[in-house]
Amino acid sequence: MRERSKAIIRGLLLLRRLVDPSECIIALEDNKPEAEKQLRQALEELLLEGIGSVNAVRIVAVPTLFPAGGEKQLIKVLTGTEVPQGGLPYQVGVVCLNVGTTAAVYDAIYQGIPLISRWVSITGSEVKHAANYEVLIGTPVQHMLDVVGVKNPDDVRLIMGGPMMGQALPNAQVPVVKATNCILVEPKASQVPTTVMPCIRCGSCANACPMNLLPQQLYWHARGKAFDKLEHHNLGDCIECGCCALVCPSKIPLVQYFRYAKNEKKEHDTKVIFADQSRLRMQVRDERLAQRARELEERKAKRKADRLKKKLAKEAAAASAKTAAEKQDKINNEVSV
Ligand code: SF4
Ligand code: SF4
Repeated sequence: MRERSKAIIRGLLLLRRLVDPSECIIALEDNKPEAEKQLRQALEELLLEGIGSVNAVRIVAVPTLFPAGGEKQLIKVLTGTEVPQGGLPYQVGVVCLNVGTTAAVYDAIYQGIPLISRWVSITGSEVKHAANYEVLIGTPVQHMLDVVGVKNPDDVRLIMGGPMMGQALPNAQVPVVKATNCILVEPKASQVPTTVMPCIRCGSCANACPMNLLPQQLYWHARGKAFDKLEHHNLGDCIECGCCALVCPSKIPLVQYFRYAKNEKKEHDTKVIFADQSRLRMQVRDERLAQRARELEERKAKRKADRLKKKLAKEAAAASAKTAAEKQDKINNEVSV
């Protein structure tokens, strides 16, 4: 936001023309005063250049409260409107985009540059030169580690994403992808082995959940692979923020369960769709065969009826010929007498 503030705003102004919203807001956390200053300055400079209008974009600093960057949380903070569970922002009349997206729109439309790179933060206690880097998509994490001076990648723990929502990487050959926002490099020793205890139903996880879910219920249903119940409890709304796991006194790795359950559910749903499609195909095939059999029977019956008609017509013709012949014989006999 500090380095590409103009690109962010120009991309946003373009999208504003397409969407035509009643209001356009750039929200950022209140612990980033420099970025806020930079954005405000860029907005003023663009206005002086004749780009945009005074009220086109509003810059708002929101409280730094995890997970403030979550789409639904941000919409609630900025508009006071809650996106319904299982719903999407457009249902409440909101389009929520990342600043990276608006900058990418600017690059694509004004500069003709496709999305081939993204900004990635590389940080953690093992990183000497923590910073944000513009990295080409597909670059191995190993290359980033070389740049920031991490000498022994096998001795560190790599996490893609933040400390709460990140996922551990199996090795440093994993490439940077479109969704890679941060690489966290921590010492292997920081991974403290924990003993998982049974759930005591204390409810702390439900109190901590920013999405108002019931993590303990999701946990039970994830363990039992009760997919209909997981859907009923809105598993899809879980943003994997990790707040529930953090407060759980039993140290249950709830997020891992939810990620696993989401993947399983996806697989299960795909299988259900395939099964439905196969059943439908089978029904169509049965109907097609039955129709063919019906048509065959109808053709057979028609042929039989035609044959019978022909036979009757032949018999009738023979009978009438016989009658005519008898009649003629009778006339001949009478003439000769
Ligand atoms: S916080 Fe942990 S122990 Fe407490 S209800 Fe949730 S899952 Fe169970
Ligand atoms: S990870 Fe836990 S706290 Fe976060 S949204 Fe999902 S259930 Fe709620």
